[in-house]
Parts: sequence; structure tokens; C-alpha cells
Amino acid sequence: AATQNFADIRAQFPILNQQENGHPLVYLDNGATSQKPQMVIDALARYYRQENANVHRGVYGLSERATEKYEGAREKVRQFINAASTKEVVFVRGTTEAINLVAQSWARENLKEGDEIIVTEMEHHSNIVPWQLLRDQLGIRLNVLRMNNQGEICLGALQGMVSEKTKLVAATHMSNALGTINPVKEMTEIAHSVGAKMLVDGAQACAHMAIDVADIGCDFYALSGHKMYGPTGIGVLYAKETLLEAMPPYQGGGDMIYSVTFEKTEYNVLPYKFEAGTPNISGAIGLGAAIDFLTAIGMEQVAGFEHELLAYATESLSRIDGLQIIGQAKNKGGVISFIIEGVHPHDMATLMDQDGIAVRASHHCAMPVMQHFNVPATVRASLGVYNNKADIDRLVSAIEEAKDMLL
Ligand code: PMP
Repeated sequence: AATQNFADIRAQFPILNQQENGHPLVYLDNGATSQKPQMVIDALARYYRQENANVHRGVYGLSERATEKYEGAREKVRQFINAASTKEVVFVRGTTEAINLVAQSWARENLKEGDEIIVTEMEHHSNIVPWQLLRDQLGIRLNVLRMNNQGEICLGALQGMVSEKTKLVAATHMSNALGTINPVKEMTEIAHSVGAKMLVDGAQACAHMAIDVADIGCDFYALSGHKMYGPTGIGVLYAKETLLEAMPPYQGGGDMIYSVTFEKTEYNVLPYKFEAGTPNISGAIGLGAAIDFLTAIGMEQVAGFEHELLAYATESLSRIDGLQIIGQAKNKGGVISFIIEGVHPHDMATLMDQDGIAVRASHHCAMPVMQHFNVPATVRASLGVYNNKADIDRLVSAIEEAKDMLL
């Protein structure tokens, strides 16, 4: 892709022209959710103005066009993650639902008492709690691959943990709390070496780097549309066709069946077997537009741009007295978690808001990460394609001002 003008990209996001508390908005909470470009907003509005009908049902033109748009979005997702077939692309509510689907369909069917699942210490709660629910249902074990103080896992340690009892390794591609990018391809090889499956939580990765499920080799990949400039309430579960074929349905209802009598129901073909009820049609179409937005920039360009901005931000923040960055992995995406000696993260974020700067102060739904670093919470600045050095400069001066007030 040609060199992109990231100032033009920023101009496509109407919300960034807004003032917050009398200051131009600096949005640095992309880890929580991203803002939406005009083309995604337009796609949603167009759908409801001109294209709205239920899918896979009507023989009339409007319904056929809605179906075409919805299925067209599925093909865009397929290309975006390099899945072999649209049968492997299941629309869900988001990463959380994708992981719960795998837990309650694939894992519940295939695991038994004494089997083991491995997760990393840096997982979001949505890649911990579904396995705990399953643990209580089946009597399986949940083992934790620990990380070092940079926030990195060790492949050798994973190698040492897996055995014929291991049925699944579930790991985040990129940590929302630390920014760590995990070596998911190598982790997949280790999982497969003992016959276990690999699930990758791509909620954070999907907006920041090229995703290639064929190259990773993983069995399951989950992502959320709202983190990648698309709407909320839409996400994707990628799973290998052979696995989906053998998995029981997750939910029952309309659209997921082929025929129903009171004696026997035959399920629909993939991927519809896993899409019970009227789906989030506009959400899928909006996600398709978000993929068009990202592909027009090019994911290599996105990654390169954010990498440079992360380096600038890391250097700028490191110069602040008493500031400690939590998570210093060698391979890291655009997330900076930090604490400041003597300042509570919530007080910091509240003062930042008064300056129009949106950052998150919390445990980031990754309480075990906070426990590892022995902090109650961190302030997190997480980057997106519209951020720039001026945003970082405003962040730095707001931190300095807040420090003066609080210390
Ligand atoms: N995993 C990670 C790493 C995340 O950052 C998030 C969202 N913060 C999730 C899973 C859950 O995604 P969602 O809330 O969109 O289902």
C-alpha cells in the first residue's frame, strides 16, 4: 500500500471534532472500544434507510439484498483473517460470546473430568471465566502459564506444561492490559504436538495487525467488531470447518435448522448452525465497512504507524518522574499501562477527563495481571489509527499537571 496520510484518516472520524470539558477530545481508550469512521456510520444508516429486511427468509428483493449484504460482510471477514471458507466464519456478539460458544459447544462435548485447559496469566476475564464455568460443569483442570515481569510468556514453560491431558491452549493474541503480543503460532505448534487445540483471543489484535489464521494454524480465533472501528454487538468466531461440523449447536432457534418436527430436528449447514435467531444484520454490514476501511489503509501500514507512535509515547512517558510503565514486552502493540508513585489511577484519569483526554483507569478486566504486578489498577493509554504525536504530547502535559495537583 502507498504511504498513507494518517491526518486524512483522522479526519474521517466525526467524534474527534468534539470538545470534552472544553477541550478537543483526545481519545486514548481504543483498548476498550474504537471510534467509528464516517464510512461505517454511513453503512449503518444506509442499511436502515434503504436495505432493512430480515435475511435468509424473504423471496422479495429487499430481503435478498439484505442477505447479500450480510453474506458479503462474511466474505470480507473471511478475507481479512484468511480463513479457507465462509463456512468457518460464524457471526457472534463479540469475543466474549465466541469464547463461550467454544466452551459450551466444542469443549463441553469433547472434554471430560481430568482433562486440562491452559490459559496465560495475562488473559482478559472473558478468556478465564468461561473455562471456570466449564471446570465446574465437567471437573476439568484450568492451568495457568505464568508471565515474567516484562509481561511475556515463555514458550519453554508452555512446552513443559503440556501433556496428553491437555485438550486446549487458550491465549490472547495481544494483551489489553499490557500490550504484549504473544507468539501464538509457536504456541499453536506446541498445543498441536500433544493433540490439543488452540484458541486465540484476537479482541485486541484485530485492529492493529494483519491476522492470518491459516498461518497461525489455530483451531479457533475470536474477535470483536467494535475494537476494529466497527459497531458494537458484532464479532466473529473463526473455527476450522471439521471442528464446527462435529460441534453441537450453541443455541437453538430459527435460522439454525434445516427441518423441525416435534420428534426430530435437522440442523442447518455451516455456519448457520451456529447463528440461531435473527442476527445482528446491520452490525455485520458495519463490520464489513470497517474491514473496507482498514484494508484501504493496509494492516501493515496500521501496525507500522502505531508501532512508531508507541515508541514515541513510551519515550515521552518514561521521562516523567515517578511514572512506571507496566508491561515492557519486546513484542508489544499500542498499549501503555502505567502507574505513578503516590497517585491513584482513578484520580489521574478523572483529572485527565477534565482536560478532554479519555484514558482508562481500572484492572482492565484482567485482575490476575494486576495481582502479578501487585497494583490495584493502572492508567492505560491505548492507541488507534487516528492518534498522533500531538495526542501524546497532550497526555504528557496533562499527567504533569495532574501530578502537580495530586502530589
Ligand atoms: N479479550 C480481550 C483481550 C479484550 O481486550 C476484550 C475486550 N476488552 C475481550 C476479550 C472481550 O471483548 P468483548 O467485550 O468485545 O466481548
